Amino acid sequence: MRIRPYNFFAGPAALPLEVIERAQAELSDFKGIGMSLMEISHRSKEYEEIHDETQQLFKELLQLPEEYKVLFLQGGASTQFSMIPMNFLVPGKIANYVMTGAWAEKAILEARKIGDVFISASGEANNYVEIPSLEDIQVYPQTAAYLHITSNETIAGTQFHSFPRIKNVPLIADMSSDILSRPLDVSQFALIYAGAQKNLGPSGVTVVLLREEIVRNIPENLPVMLKYDTFTKHNSLYNTPPVYSIYIVNLVLKWIKQHGGLVSLEKRNAEKAKLIYDAIDQSGGFYTGMVKLNSRSLMNITFKVHDDELEKLFLQQSKANHFIGLEGHRSVGHLRASTYNAVPYEACKALTDFMIDFQKRYG
Ligand SMILES: *Cc1c(COP(=O)(O)O)cnc(C)c1O
Repeated sequence: MRIRPYNFFAGPAALPLEVIERAQAELSDFKGIGMSLMEISHRSKEYEEIHDETQQLFKELLQLPEEYKVLFLQGGASTQFSMIPMNFLVPGKIANYVMTGAWAEKAILEARKIGDVFISASGEANNYVEIPSLEDIQVYPQTAAYLHITSNETIAGTQFHSFPRIKNVPLIADMSSDILSRPLDVSQFALIYAGAQKNLGPSGVTVVLLREEIVRNIPENLPVMLKYDTFTKHNSLYNTPPVYSIYIVNLVLKWIKQHGGLVSLEKRNAEKAKLIYDAIDQSGGFYTGMVKLNSRSLMNITFKVHDDELEKLFLQQSKANHFIGLEGHRSVGHLRASTYNAVPYEACKALTDFMIDFQKRYG
């Protein structure tokens, strides 16, 4: 039998094998209809059940307060970078952004096309190796449209471990790379968004969780597909949603539920990351982590080997041993292991064993 690689890709990323197998089993004949789910109307009973159940699963797993909606959009998290300021950054208001790296920067560039942006805190001066401390996050003393953060910086490998709370300022978070990786008090946020292809499912759907009241004053003249209220008014069925991606997300959410929900996922994710961080920290400088300890991400572990040539060899040999996706992002280089929900403990253990063995041979 062909071995399934140890998949550490940053995105698109690993999906649970059980989910892939279930999707395969249901592919040509979805629940006895004799066709795949992709071939039938998005207004059909079969699809609508999946749609509603997926929303329900989000509500259940995150214990969403009553006033929150679950939306399925397209265009990736990158389209949210534009939609957020288009919908909420109205004249006379200021958008506040915490600059934690490449993804925040892209969000900021889009916001600047729409209105005034204030950088509430920035890690740029120290190369994004640390999340700014919450006390250092300031909002501009004029009516704030919102405060935007990137809860997990996929490229740098940093993560917020607690969130800023600023009175009367709606908090918006890009959670593309750590949504559902830990329990979350959603009531702290006005809007959360995530491209699905890291922790939720395949690309093609972007999940948005929002507090309904924030869609009240959206500018009328925006393109219909770029207004949040189009989706809240039509239960995310204004036009054809990405049905197959949503279906896979549905299976992933059921898998999370079966595995004990977010509390047990958080525990497992912490154990997985600890294995790898320990191998780094106990290597006596053979490996080093790229970010400050207090900001380490449990989802994207960025590190390097002390010698560039050895690092190349590490990548070569790791590939030969069925580890894939360990190259760091091209803007940062070095190594990155993405340990999202669906990456098994065994894969992290195997990587740790490989790291320790590699050090024995070349250290
Ligand atoms: C991957 C990623 C994005 C971009 O997502 P797309 O769906 O490809 O647009 C945005 N933000 C973060 C934090 C990411 O990890």
